[in-house]
Amino acid sequence: MARLDDGWCAALDRASMRCTIYEQRPWICREFEMGSYECKEERAA
Ligand code: SF4
Repeated sequence: MARLDDGWCAALDRASMRCTIYEQRPWICREFEMGSYECKEERAA
């Protein structure tokens, strides 16, 4: 996914923290496991 200058995904609605293309989101987003090690690393950054 395209990222903005600050590294956040361009498809994220920051007001709601929801994906604006959820039904069409890329495969990598579908594979990303909520609460996984990678998820916690990203949230901590
Ligand atoms: S699910 Fe994927 S496309 Fe949607 S906001 Fe998150 S990173 Fe971006």
